[in-house]
Amino acid sequence: MIARRDPAINTSTDIQGMTMRTPLRTITTFLLSAAAIAALSVVASCSTNSQQTPDIKLYVFKCGNISSRDISLFSPGVNEGQSKELTDSCYLIRHPQGDLFWDAGLADSIGPDGIEVFNGALHLSVTNPLRAQLDAIGVKPEEIEWLGISHFHSDHIGNANWFNNATLLIQKEEFDAAFGANPQQYGFNPDLYSQFNASNSQILQGDHDVFGDGRVVIKRAVGHTPGHQMLYLDLSNSGPIMLSGDLYHFTSNREHQRVPSFNFDKEQTLEAMKQIEQHVKQTGAQFWIQHDKEQNATILHAPEFYN
Ligand SMILES: [Zn+2]
Repeated sequence: MIARRDPAINTSTDIQGMTMRTPLRTITTFLLSAAAIAALSVVASCSTNSQQTPDIKLYVFKCGNISSRDISLFSPGVNEGQSKELTDSCYLIRHPQGDLFWDAGLADSIGPDGIEVFNGALHLSVTNPLRAQLDAIGVKPEEIEWLGISHFHSDHIGNANWFNNATLLIQKEEFDAAFGANPQQYGFNPDLYSQFNASNSQILQGDHDVFGDGRVVIKRAVGHTPGHQMLYLDLSNSGPIMLSGDLYHFTSNREHQRVPSFNFDKEQTLEAMKQIEQHVKQTGAQFWIQHDKEQNATILHAPEFYN
């Protein structure tokens, strides 16, 4: 049984589910009969078992490299002409109720020699194919139940078509942009997500608690793209972790709240930064920036995992 975190309900009533809550509250308002005491002792013994939190595992994968010739693309007016290496990360969350893959990286087919995009401003390459990393832990992408994509830029959706039996979790604005008349206008390439459509997508209009227990929650954070979103995790041993999507691309942009020149909406981005930072402060979550190469060098990658 899964222990749900609901501050309005005490633990011993919570674990019994909806049917027990009302009777238990009623009982406590009367003199305790012998039968009621016996019932309460059952509740107490159940609560010990049910307080076990679900065993969630988080795997981190290397999903490509991004070389930027001029980092001011990400921080207009700052660090002009400076180059920077970024990494590209994707993640598997294994929950007792199913698997969620978060972001699908650069396509393995790009390979180690790579390609240039943005008129040569960025060089993209893949030196550690995701397929081999999944094989190493015995995971088949076609068996994954849920696919969460922070946004539809090509470095986040590259291998999405492998997850062809998953339900795509996507904000309405991102869906409308990606599956509308002109996805190219948003920098999206429909060939990279041709396995998906309305029939295997779950359209979101806000935060979404994926497994209903508050442990794996998609956070709406629009602005980088029309329906950009992030992922909040609450792990038993490692505690809360926020995965950035592209709210920021590296740590100094987080420190200075800088908005890349190519973002869809600057004001929306700044508002999302404010909301998310508030949530991070409240929860005490670690903040993992998916493209930050230096930070990622300090994070364990598959086959190791966090729980
Ligand atoms: Zn992006």
